[in-house]
Amino acid sequence: MEQTLSIIKPDAVAKNVVGQILARFEAADLRIAATKKTRLSRVDAEAFYAIHAERPFFKDLVDFMISGPVVVTVLEGNDAMAKNRDLMGATNPAEAEAGTIRADFADSIDANAVHGSDSVENAKIEIAFFFAEREIY
Ligand code: ATP
Ligand code: MG
Repeated sequence: MEQTLSIIKPDAVAKNVVGQILARFEAADLRIAATKKTRLSRVDAEAFYAIHAERPFFKDLVDFMISGPVVVTVLEGNDAMAKNRDLMGATNPAEAEAGTIRADFADSIDANAVHGSDSVENAKIEIAFFFAEREIY
C-alpha cells in the first residue's frame, strides 16, 4: 500500500473544515494511517520547504505555514500520492478544477488549504519528518 503526506494548512484549519477535507480522502478510498494537529516552528517550516529556499515566495510561504496550527495526515491506499494530488487540485486555486479541495476551500496561492507530497520518494521523507513509525497504522 502506498502512503503519502497531507497537511491541512492554517487557512483551512482556521475555517473549521478539517473534517470535511479528511472526509474527501476517505470517500476516495484513502485511509488515515496517522493524523495529528500541530504548529510548525519557523525552523520546521524552513526545513520542510527547503526545496523552495531560493524561490521569491519562500519567506511568505514559511510565514503562512507557521501562522497557525496545521493538521498533518498520512494517507494510505492505491496510488495514494497521485490520488491525493488529484483531490487537491492546482496550486493556484483560481486554476483548480471544480470539486477539488483547493477550488472549494482555498482563497489564494498562499492560503491554498492543503499540501500533498509530490512524489512517492518525497512522501517517505515527509512522513518521517512528522511521524515515528509506531504512530502509523
Ligand atoms: P504544496 O507543496 O504546498 O503541496 P504544490 O506542490 O501544489 O503545493 P509547490 O510548487 O510545491 O506547490 O509550492 C509550494 C507552495 O508555495 C504552494 O502551495 C504555494 O503556497 C507556494 N507557491 C508556489 N508557487 C508560488 C508562486 N508562484 N507564488 C506564490 N506562492 C507560490
Ligand atoms: Mg509541493
